[in-house]
Amino acid sequence: MTKEVKIGKITIGGGNKIAVQSMTNTRTADIEKTAEQMLRLEKEGCDIIRVAVLDLSDAQAIKELKKHTSTPIVADIHFDHKLALAAIEYGADKIRINPGNIANEDFLRQIICKAKEKNVCIRIGVNGGSLNKLSEEKYGRGVDALVDSALRYVEFFEKESFFNLVISIKSSSVLKTVEANRILSSKTNYPLHIGVTESGSGQIALTKSAVGIGSLLIDGIGDTIRVSLTDDPVEEVKFAKILLRAIEKDKNFCEVISCPSCGRCCFDLIGTAKQVSDYVKDISKPLKIAVMGCVVNGPGEAREADLGLAGGKGKVVFFKRGEVFSTVEEKDALQKFKEEIDKLR
Ligand code: SF4
Repeated sequence: MTKEVKIGKITIGGGNKIAVQSMTNTRTADIEKTAEQMLRLEKEGCDIIRVAVLDLSDAQAIKELKKHTSTPIVADIHFDHKLALAAIEYGADKIRINPGNIANEDFLRQIICKAKEKNVCIRIGVNGGSLNKLSEEKYGRGVDALVDSALRYVEFFEKESFFNLVISIKSSSVLKTVEANRILSSKTNYPLHIGVTESGSGQIALTKSAVGIGSLLIDGIGDTIRVSLTDDPVEEVKFAKILLRAIEKDKNFCEVISCPSCGRCCFDLIGTAKQVSDYVKDISKPLKIAVMGCVVNGPGEAREADLGLAGGKGKVVFFKRGEVFSTVEEKDALQKFKEEIDKLR
């Protein structure tokens, strides 16, 4: 079990709900655009929003953005420790730094001191492009170097009596991401933020995140996740939610199970499954609805469903937990099935 860490209003680690994170792609100082994107992310279910802080105006914007959203804001800082100090001062709930690209230890100590003062969490983010020099000398540029870099930085923070940490080590390789995080989680109990970085766009990117993040979460590794996509960040959140549902980390929704159909199917299975899925998409409690292609096998195969339908020749049967309780004309089936769903809402 990882240690609990507070980021604004939410607590991560320690068996708390896995938090979904995304990052705005607007200029942070453009309050109107950034706030609009943040609200869209929040509406989609984003738990933590990261913003890039490139200069002082971005850091100052955090104060204003916090008036628009209660979602915790993470300031992403590269190189300039003064921006980290400013971001904390202006209300960032967490900052993300790569200690490897902050010029010296004194600057890091200043960040630690400020984070302590404001009780702000720090994410140590390491990737292949910014390894600790000693780790790189010892291990080259592979998985061990990523893990060793992160742990060296953790040791530095702990020596400064700072423990309010989250760690992330990322790679664009699914295999390296999984391997590195498995090793890291065996060596530390700080919460881990996981994701496959620079994964691209479209189906391959989604698949890389599903396999990389999914494998780790199934192992019980990962406290916050980001599905990295070259796309509208709202898509990252949508897919992260789907991913959490697919591996049963989020059960508060109505799952529609449907068969792939085969030669036994003699009604519009694909259209019906789509319409049922659309009808139940706002249900936020655990339910399982089945849409099956034939009466012969459907009710039995979908025995675990709270409610199901299976197509026949001109007729459709409704069933609960595998037991048929009603037979209706195919033309009336969808409307009557929706009425049955409504009884379960
Ligand atoms: S439920 Fe019926 S139609 Fe669907 S795959 Fe099974 S046998 Fe085929």
